[in-house]
Amino acid sequence: MIMGSEIYFDNNATTRVLPEVFEAMRPFLTELYGNPSSIHRFGSQVAQSIHEARQRVAAAIGASDPVEVMFTSCGTEGDNAAIRGMLEARPDKRHIVTTLVEHPAVMGLCQHLEKKGYRVTWLGVNQDGMLDLNELRDALTDQTALVSIMWANNETGVIFPIEEIGEIVKAKGIPFHVDAVQAAGKIPLSVKDCPVDLLTISGHKFHGPKGVGALYVRRGIPFPPFIIGGHQERSRRAGTENVAGIVGMGKAAEIALKHLSEYSGKVQALRDQLEQSLQQSCPHCRVNGQGQDRLPNTSNISFRYLEGESILVLMDQNGICASTGSACTAGSSEPSHVLRAMSLPADWLQGAIRLSLSRFNTENEVRYVNEKMPSIVERLQGLSALGKLNKQQQRSETDSAVLAGRIGARG
Ligand code: PLP
Repeated sequence: MIMGSEIYFDNNATTRVLPEVFEAMRPFLTELYGNPSSIHRFGSQVAQSIHEARQRVAAAIGASDPVEVMFTSCGTEGDNAAIRGMLEARPDKRHIVTTLVEHPAVMGLCQHLEKKGYRVTWLGVNQDGMLDLNELRDALTDQTALVSIMWANNETGVIFPIEEIGEIVKAKGIPFHVDAVQAAGKIPLSVKDCPVDLLTISGHKFHGPKGVGALYVRRGIPFPPFIIGGHQERSRRAGTENVAGIVGMGKAAEIALKHLSEYSGKVQALRDQLEQSLQQSCPHCRVNGQGQDRLPNTSNISFRYLEGESILVLMDQNGICASTGSACTAGSSEPSHVLRAMSLPADWLQGAIRLSLSRFNTENEVRYVNEKMPSIVERLQGLSALGKLNKQQQRSETDSAVLAGRIGARG
């Protein structure tokens, strides 16, 4: 998709709101301003639209009953509600199982809970970003309150075998939460056919608006209220509903379901074309997680010895929007925790970028990116030659210091 003159390859960060979605929302921001809890017809008309949106979201994730869908304010809230809800429902269990590659919405919360005294088992991944299911089996105990594992990774696109994982977790009678924020709208999801108890999605990742998400809670799973107040969302998540957002998300979910096959067809073909061409034209380039089943729209590419941020700046100057695989904090960029968990060698770690497509990207755009990238990479590799020499020198000095026993191992 071209925004003005930009080429937008950052669809895992967010997507554009479809015109049909905007039009569906519009009346709820203008004339249909009733409160869905009101008894009068002005309110009940709005309540009916929320009901229809719930049906559409339920259909998109393969839920058999729309009451299993609870609207939230975003994916982060859904993840927090699921994890905190299960801990509250099972207060005698103090153990959580999750992975080292989760989004901060899960990872940050689990780190916080660890500080509060919960025990967290962090499952590792191999060099391709895949879990070892035996490690998962070994981690489960009768103290485990829940397992929280993402469906697809936001940085690499690697898809976890959720059905198989669910069977393992279910056999132990433990609730299973899945963060499907990146998977929704890109690959088929069916909670009906999968042993998943709770599942998070977020509207803005599939051409819906920002500020609205949904948490699926399987019927029969005890789920204490997350936000306490009024009776909205069956008293589980109180507060007057974000009506326009919910209606927009429902419309986006309906459209996404209709167009799902374009991802395994057109979008994947464009992504593969992009990767093949970059690997041929750019020296020292690798696709992270390439050996695994991945989201059809996502490509995480490392350029050896380079800095992802520098690549992005030059891409931006050429009108191409992408992102790094790393989280930036307070002006300093940290290498991605996902790529570190995949044991990516240090010289490949910093130079990772993520290109994430949508069904609105075109072959022309891919061709343009493939034309521009070799010169961007060449320019930066030229600039980094000096840095490389400096780094090698520093490394050999450090090695000598370690050998001399003057410094210990880094924590
Ligand atoms: N989980 C995953 C895997 C994500 O990629 C994101 C957002 O990027 C989130 C959760 C958080 O979603 P939101 O931005 O709606 O809070």
